[in-house]
Amino acid sequence: MTETLSISNLTVAIDDKSILKGVSLDVNPGELHAIMGPNGSGKSTLAQALAGHPAYVVGAGSVATMNGADLLSLSPDERAQQGLFLAFQYPVEVPGVSVQNFLRQAHLARFSQEPKKQFAKVLDFRKHLQKLADKFQIDQAFLSRGLNEGFSGGEKKQLEILQMAVLEPKYAILDETDSGLDIDAIKRVAKGVRKIQKDYNTGIIVITHYQRILDYLKPDFVHVLVAGKIVQSGGAELVASLESSGYASLKEK
Ligand code: ADP
Ligand code: MG
Repeated sequence: MTETLSISNLTVAIDDKSILKGVSLDVNPGELHAIMGPNGSGKSTLAQALAGHPAYVVGAGSVATMNGADLLSLSPDERAQQGLFLAFQYPVEVPGVSVQNFLRQAHLARFSQEPKKQFAKVLDFRKHLQKLADKFQIDQAFLSRGLNEGFSGGEKKQLEILQMAVLEPKYAILDETDSGLDIDAIKRVAKGVRKIQKDYNTGIIVITHYQRILDYLKPDFVHVLVAGKIVQSGGAELVASLESSGYASLKEK
């Protein structure tokens, strides 16, 4: 039995167009991996395919995970139930559904197979949520607002952190979670992500273009995705060399 999220030679196409051309990546619990790479290289495609978005058609490859199950044979809901979390590059606004009601439903779905983790009463869940909000320094007033409705970029990301705290993911993929954030918001998000990683031993994949968030996150591994393939992997030191030389030199490989 393995708790490793083991992506092996994954190929993904959209509308018959090949996007991922054999991606392999092992993520262990508690590890933080960063994926960098130019626009259009397939980073979001990897995230969407792992989450089970129907438009992203998996060809070859496998993704073994929790309890040795083949993640690719599970429905998106089952994947979430198994503890996979995806934070979208563009969070949706859902006016009329409050943050706390949304998180309550998400929690019920996540732990539908684990009765011990469930809260019988709505009030008990709310107390739990308030504790988590305090722990992650999120304003309580936030909880009764409409989901992402009128939220600033930074607030949407705070909500994602809170969502992770509620769902206690085994694996989390954060797609450009730093885009459009100011420096203080980036610091805050990074702090939240590290706390999730530590408190829940979550294996995390952070997709980003920029060095800044990685300076705070201090990833264990950095991978560069170019034209649907990982062309280079290394430690955090790779970030600085990419920042100075760009991706152009890697495309030739
Ligand atoms: P990245 O996140 O690295 O910028 P994406 O994974 O979003 O790249 O996109 C990779 C390629 O797949 C791009 O050429 C993009 O145009 C294409 N693509 C992504 N999503 C779709 C889609 N829903 N329909 C058609 N093409 C898509
Ligand atoms: Mg993207």
